[in-house]
Amino acid sequence: MVQEQLVSRGITDAPTLQAMSEVPRHLFVEDAMRARAYGDYPLPISAGQTISQPYIVALMTQMLGLSGTEKVLEVGTGSGYQAAVLSRMCARVYTVERINQLLASSRKVFDILRYYNIIAKLDDGTMGWPENGPYDAIIITAGGPEIPSPLVDQLADSGRMVIPVGNQEVQELQLLTKNEDGIKIERRDKVRFVDLIGKYGWSD
Ligand code: SAM
Repeated sequence: MVQEQLVSRGITDAPTLQAMSEVPRHLFVEDAMRARAYGDYPLPISAGQTISQPYIVALMTQMLGLSGTEKVLEVGTGSGYQAAVLSRMCARVYTVERINQLLASSRKVFDILRYYNIIAKLDDGTMGWPENGPYDAIIITAGGPEIPSPLVDQLADSGRMVIPVGNQEVQELQLLTKNEDGIKIERRDKVRFVDLIGKYGWSD
């Protein structure tokens, strides 16, 4: 997976490649999907949601530019795979999921793997998780119509945020960076994610 899908497409960030070679992706999918866990595509998980294609996980992770000391917020825990990858590359991951069934199953896998630096909760992640902010990096793994303003507020100075923004058919990855001059937004690859549902996302 790492060589054929990530390195060959230009993923160069060593911590991202290392984390994705370590984290057992097959534990984050249902038994019936295990044989396909390392394939070059997204897969369905419970509750009509998806685990993202490995390349998209790598691309978004690389865009965060992590060095190992950061506090990261993820919106959209889903299977837990993205949070698990991040947890190998930073100090602590806070992850928010709105579907209880997914939160419960991802927590079980974090425990099995002893990934104790992941803290997960059930909530509308478009509101962020203000009690633990500001965050050095924020990643949103569902597609919304705009960048939720609470997430911008909870991003630290010099922080980076990656989010798919667009309509419910297609989005573009946006990289938001914050510094003393203000906020800069770069528009990157076209992607297709499930809906970000919540106060600052699509309505249910
Ligand atoms: N990061 C996940 C993984 O590694 O498996 C993939 C996430 S899946 C593409 C998107 C997830 O975002 C779904 O589980 C969905 O329930 C969740 N989601 C959508 N809107 C949300 C919100 N406002 N707050 C928290 N989670 C949300």
